[in-house]
Amino acid sequence: MSTTEKSNRVTEFGSYDTRGHWKPPYPVNFSPLFEWPLKPKAIFKWLFGYPGFIWPVHILYVLLAFVTVVYFQPAIENCKNLEFGWIGLMLLRNFILIMIVFVGLHLVLYTFRLHGDERKYNPSFQEETKRQFLFGKQPLDNAFRTLAFGLPIWTAYEVLYVWAAANGRVPYMTFQEHPFWFVAWFFLIPFFLESHFYFIHRLIHWGPLFKYVHSVHHLNPNPGPLSGLAMHPVEHILYFSATLIYFIIPSNPVHFFYHIQILALGAALGHTGFEGPLFNGKLVAGDYFHYLHHKYVTCNFGTNTIPWDKWLGVYYNGEGDYRPGKKVVTPDTKGT
Ligand SMILES: [Zn+2]
Ligand SMILES: [Zn+2]
Repeated sequence: MSTTEKSNRVTEFGSYDTRGHWKPPYPVNFSPLFEWPLKPKAIFKWLFGYPGFIWPVHILYVLLAFVTVVYFQPAIENCKNLEFGWIGLMLLRNFILIMIVFVGLHLVLYTFRLHGDERKYNPSFQEETKRQFLFGKQPLDNAFRTLAFGLPIWTAYEVLYVWAAANGRVPYMTFQEHPFWFVAWFFLIPFFLESHFYFIHRLIHWGPLFKYVHSVHHLNPNPGPLSGLAMHPVEHILYFSATLIYFIIPSNPVHFFYHIQILALGAALGHTGFEGPLFNGKLVAGDYFHYLHHKYVTCNFGTNTIPWDKWLGVYYNGEGDYRPGKKVVTPDTKGT
């Protein structure tokens, strides 16, 4: 079906506007965690349902962190000196992860279009030549920024942590000593991560920082998986700086890798440009909340776990007309 045929149609699966942009038939909303009065049933479902907070996304990140530390990380005690060998291996590991997750998702969704255009927000598959992009093409521009700046800066934070851990300069925690905190930390890290992201993101929307730094990421109003880490290097430095917390809070290297891999790889999964989950619920990827930020720029700076945007009056749920700079339509304020 062509874009024109799709324009202005409303179906039970969502609706198309006059330009053929699709939106889901429901508003984006926040997790029930911070709703009052408490909704224990909804919280239980949010935590343990599928796709839920725990399964599959965070469980898979925990597994990946363990696999990374056990099989794909040069032994930390051998990383006391900054040497090319172990640093090169870490760089190679992260390069391979980018190839699998970022480039893999792009090939599946955009090059081979194995999901078709079903529930794709923007009808374009990023094939146009546009002057705003390096080399004139969005995927090339995004891939270049990811590999040239994102990959080395992500790896530099890992190298810094591993080198410091090898030299006894980070506070350490083991499962044997603190089993409760060892497990609890995995639950708490995403909340810290999202809050850090929120405030860093608000900061880089401030005039000069937006103009010289964050505007690079906003070259992508129609994001795809490769757009996740398509940032100015200063933004990469700020984005990954959340992991400096491991220099203060006693943790295990597994917590560190869990955190930094969510930051690195989650960026691809959060920018697919499709409403998830994909492939009949098998692939949990896609983030309408963040897509609305790319489309409208002045709303939805965070994610939908902690309602920072709602508390600070910059939340847009995707329904009704978007009114920048004003208190936007939300399920709570609608009609009042
Ligand atoms: Zn983004
Ligand atoms: Zn932004």
